[in-house]
Amino acid sequence: MTRPVCGTCATPGSVRDGRPWCGTCRIWLVLHGPTGQWVSYAEHTSRDRAAETARLITATARQVTEHLPRVHRMLPKGWTARPHQGIDDAPYAIAIDAPDGVIDATTYLHPPTDTSGWHVTVHNRVTGVGFPSYTDGGARAASFDTVEAAATDGIRLLCGEIHDLASRRAR
Ligand SMILES: [Zn+2]
Repeated sequence: MTRPVCGTCATPGSVRDGRPWCGTCRIWLVLHGPTGQWVSYAEHTSRDRAAETARLITATARQVTEHLPRVHRMLPKGWTARPHQGIDDAPYAIAIDAPDGVIDATTYLHPPTDTSGWHVTVHNRVTGVGFPSYTDGGARAASFDTVEAAATDGIRLLCGEIHDLASRRAR
């Protein structure tokens, strides 16, 4: 077995119980493929997770850029759509807003993943309520095969919020 160099302290590791070991850090070492560094199992897991997050951000940013023009063509007059990343390290979504001053709420179209289609959520900052679009019966979040279907549903939900706001104001 080649003697691994510990990626944390940069000293040559040894072998303990037949596995690579860093006596300085007192950690078992495992090879992190993408960088070729020997790191702890915990570090390996966290790097895998970071790589998966980065992959998801890149993938969703690409899907949003690709599909945004199709959403733009469907918007009611005065409405806007833009790429949205809620916080750093979050996947991208398409944010749809009604014209300025109509309602302080946004609907989001979340790009498909390996296991589902587009998801739709609404965040109403007036009521402080955020909710996903559900399938009939409300058991599961609705999944849409096309961005057009997701946008249609997102616009419908936001119109519903606008309608509710108008009826509250009328009372
Ligand atoms: Zn070390």
